[in-house]
Amino acid sequence: MLYHPFCIFADFESLTEKVSGTLPSATTSFTADLERHKAVSYSIIATVAEDKLIFHEFYVGESAIANFFETLKYLSDRLMKKMHRIMPLVPRPDDCYDPLICHICKKKFLPGEIRVRDHAHWGTGRINGLAHQVCNLNYRATYFIPVIIHNSRNYDNHLILKNIPPNIAKCIEIIPVNMEKFTMFSLDYLKFLDSYQFLDAFIET
Ligand SMILES: [Zn+2]
Repeated sequence: MLYHPFCIFADFESLTEKVSGTLPSATTSFTADLERHKAVSYSIIATVAEDKLIFHEFYVGESAIANFFETLKYLSDRLMKKMHRIMPLVPRPDDCYDPLICHICKKKFLPGEIRVRDHAHWGTGRINGLAHQVCNLNYRATYFIPVIIHNSRNYDNHLILKNIPPNIAKCIEIIPVNMEKFTMFSLDYLKFLDSYQFLDAFIET
């Protein structure tokens, strides 16, 4: 299993506020918003591979969503720089890896295939294992940072996507479950996931 070197976790709190204005009709049926949810605070943490806390912030105020994306931008720029930095390979006497199997695709090496020592580019620089050269390059090309938001599929995704700053909303990709729910959305190097997706997996197994 390949681990993400960094992971971001976040949670929002919101309040409902009354929507002012006159109702369309007193005699016929209609649909109108009487109150709306508004994010008023969030907390965010970032961890490195061994669950070590490397960043935390808590915000309360009028601009919770906009402030959240500013913080994410600052944080993801810093983390992506670390992920793309080439740490020198640091062999250790206790390094132990299978010389016959690619640790990324789990297939046996065939005669003539180029094998490389894949090593962590962050933290210790120690060897992860032997890998096909192609697997190693493809793996590096797909680096992303998971952003896990508590119960986002049922609630926070709506709050976030409805209020996302317009300059950021342009480059969002969404994977819907249905008209109401999104299983995931991504933004540059960030993939937004729901904490409950992982909870279901734990319960099923
Ligand atoms: Zn491979």
